[in-house]
Amino acid sequence: MTHVKEDILGLMPNEIIKELADMGEQPFRGKQVVNWLYKGINSFGAMTNLPKSTRQKLESKYKIGSLKQIDRQKSEKGDTIKYLYLLADNNIIECVVMKYAYGNTLCLSTQVGCRMGCSFCASTKEGLVRNLEVGEMVAQLLIANSDIGRAEDRGIRNIVLMGSGEPLDNYQNVIKFMRLVHHPDVFNISYRNITLSTCGLVPKMKELSQEDIPITLSISLHAPNDEIRRKIMPVASAYSVDEIVQAGKYYFEKTGRRVTFEYSLIHRLNDSEENARELAYRLKDFSCHVNVIPINEIEGTPYRRSSEYRIESFINTLKSLGLQVTRRRELGQDIGGACGQLKRGYLDNVEI
Ligand code: SF4
Repeated sequence: MTHVKEDILGLMPNEIIKELADMGEQPFRGKQVVNWLYKGINSFGAMTNLPKSTRQKLESKYKIGSLKQIDRQKSEKGDTIKYLYLLADNNIIECVVMKYAYGNTLCLSTQVGCRMGCSFCASTKEGLVRNLEVGEMVAQLLIANSDIGRAEDRGIRNIVLMGSGEPLDNYQNVIKFMRLVHHPDVFNISYRNITLSTCGLVPKMKELSQEDIPITLSISLHAPNDEIRRKIMPVASAYSVDEIVQAGKYYFEKTGRRVTFEYSLIHRLNDSEENARELAYRLKDFSCHVNVIPINEIEGTPYRRSSEYRIESFINTLKSLGLQVTRRRELGQDIGGACGQLKRGYLDNVEI
């Protein structure tokens, strides 16, 4: 039987230090390994201040990441770079770097596919293939970081878990990933700079509220009521809009972090003034934020982009009713802006 090596990128620094100690190494060796790992090296051989015997021991048990970049596309404006990675089992995932004035943001995937079935989403076409391992999420950050760092001398400062997959459906791995990237010896990314997007898995949202990880929670609502929501999001049959808003309030109470509701505007489905009024009613008395996203049209779906008039009138109605609203800056439309679109386009064109 082939020995499958464990990915060392999935371990917390204390686990690496303990592992080295268990191998009979001196205490500072573990710390040396941790220092090397996030510099973008991809072999233990490159850890030149470790004795050869230590490197060999590590080599026999561990690998450093398993992602291979197979595509990289930059938008015309240069504000978005999309990466496609091949996993060890030949699955493909994607991540996107978006450039904002406040720093580079990485949108990464947490699962191969997704089982939530949102009808406007390209990630859901094949259902859930599998959860990503912690190391596979870390590797997306490492590779993008070294690419951006090389190109522009600025690394990733913000992470959004909004690529393919429902992060709370891969709960344990995602929690560990967030603790890991926050660790001062790893990427030292503030929890405030991590945003997790969920389609509204109420029990997991409550669990997350208790983790002492005060990240930004972003809830994909996309509808003002259950009837419309059920048309586009099967998860609406499991949890009602009211339950989701309550869970959002609970998250805010526990963490003090303001919750964002994502609302993708779809032409004549959820973009009327009446829809805006109902949404405002649901969110009244809740100090939250609404992010309105005019959808990118996705081939193979019936959904069309709302007219500029309807977009503006929807946003203005929400504002007039006291909600804090922003319109999401639309980045990289020329390379496929919605989650799963790049991968979809690639798979449609390439035989692997
Ligand atoms: S929108 Fe998000 S939760 Fe819905 S199917 Fe796509 S990846 Fe899954």
